[in-house]
Amino acid sequence: MSERYHIAVVGAGPGGLSAAARAAQTGVSHILLEQSPAHANTIQRYQKGKHVMAEPGILPLRSPLKFEVGTREKILGEWADGLGEHQVNVRYNADVTAISGSRGDFRLTLKSGEEISAEYVIFAIGLQGNPRRLGVPGDDLPCVQYTLDDPDEYKDETILVVGAGDAAIENAVALSKQNKVIIVNRSGEFARCKDGNLALILKHIEEEKLDCLYKTQCSALSATPEAEKPYLLTLSTDKGEINMPCHRIIARLGAIAPRKFVESCGIRFPSTDPAALPELSPQYESSVPGLYVIGALAGYPLIKQAMNQGYEVVESIMGRECAPADEPLLAKKFARLPGRQSVSEVLAAMQSTIPLFSDVNPLMFRELILGSEIHVPVAGEAIFRRNDYTNTFFSILSGSVEIEVGEGAGARRIPLSAGQFFGEMGFRTSPYGNGLCRQRLRPY
Ligand SMILES: Cc1cc2nc3c(=O)[nH]c(=O)nc-3n(C[C@H](O)[C@H](O)[C@H](O)COP(=O)(O)OP(=O)(O)OC[C@H]3O[C@@H](n4cnc5c(N)ncnc54)[C@H](O)[C@@H]3O)c2cc1C
Repeated sequence: MSERYHIAVVGAGPGGLSAAARAAQTGVSHILLEQSPAHANTIQRYQKGKHVMAEPGILPLRSPLKFEVGTREKILGEWADGLGEHQVNVRYNADVTAISGSRGDFRLTLKSGEEISAEYVIFAIGLQGNPRRLGVPGDDLPCVQYTLDDPDEYKDETILVVGAGDAAIENAVALSKQNKVIIVNRSGEFARCKDGNLALILKHIEEEKLDCLYKTQCSALSATPEAEKPYLLTLSTDKGEINMPCHRIIARLGAIAPRKFVESCGIRFPSTDPAALPELSPQYESSVPGLYVIGALAGYPLIKQAMNQGYEVVESIMGRECAPADEPLLAKKFARLPGRQSVSEVLAAMQSTIPLFSDVNPLMFRELILGSEIHVPVAGEAIFRRNDYTNTFFSILSGSVEIEVGEGAGARRIPLSAGQFFGEMGFRTSPYGNGLCRQRLRPY
């Protein structure tokens, strides 16, 4: 007979660790299944000594485990202590290969052939097992890697770092201390990173500590007989094709859901887009009753969010009401809006009024609004004036706005009404950043 638990948690990343620790704290029978030999494989694979950020700063942490800004090593140590302290029932080297069944009767199959039964399953496998590949001929050569453990391992090499997000920047900066580093950025700017990393990379480029090839994409990779620099990366730039001899390529292009596996468990996605998120209820329940998805796989790119969801999902399974950790923050944000509506009513009204947001996953939309500001201007008030600096994107929830364009005799006013938007049109896509609502969006 297979072992049976009330809750099986798959994946011991921040989301799964927090869920299992809460289950243990609550005294409910549980098992935490982790495919690798240690907890939090994604964090174990951050580069050595990485400064781990604990954003969003305004969001309180809700977990029996600790988490605050610190080094990778400190955080991993605290989580290991927390697992012991709460006597979490964790099994390492337990690679879950199949999940079947439904609420009250799930069966989880491990790679070893063992089977485990559970009434509820929390799926917290993250995305990092499925990094976006370079996708060019030759990308299976041994010089291509998708993670960087210890930047100090490499010295006097020419390394191309492909990508322009936080991971690419952190790797490039760390490697540039003792290597020649070139960032390959398909865009003309670094639009997807945290402000601190943006400042860091621009400073490094300005001080010529590393190079950046903007508007450049990889097109092929090959090995060469050249012992000095044994690989050749062909790049398409806006000025034509160039060949870059190198020792190593570090591709940091993000990661996507392991769709085949997730769908084999019965979890539905709303579209075939590889970046689509699973369909989830506000309590993170998937299209399979009793099977919950949290963390990066649910579309949340940061550690604190994954940990909060781990806690909340166990509360939901145990039948205890638990509003999301951001509920008081959103309620405070919405307090100035006319009418007494609940947080979910305001969010629903925003999504139905502003067509741009109507298809956004409701959980992600919540995140977006958490990073936005609500303005309730009085009639006639200027929102911004000509030549003011603004990097803000405004959406109109109710009322109307006039935009004055042209000057002197050519001046005219363009009326905008509820549902329309104006302001900065170089829009960042993904969570971080309305009345009137201003947003900035970004993933890790
Ligand atoms: C380079 C890099 C730097 C980052 N820096 C930060 C930062 O500074 N601050 C921040 O807040 N966020 C950061 N992030 C994002 C953060 O790592 C993720 O948001 C977080 O790890 C998501 O947690 P998770 O629990 O959903 O998934 P993960 O942390 O990815 O954990 C998933 C776990 O599931 C296990 N697993 C996978 N498949 C199976 C299976 N079939 N069976 C059993 N176990 C399985 C994995 O081994 C892993 O341990 C960074 C991400 C990267 C890639």
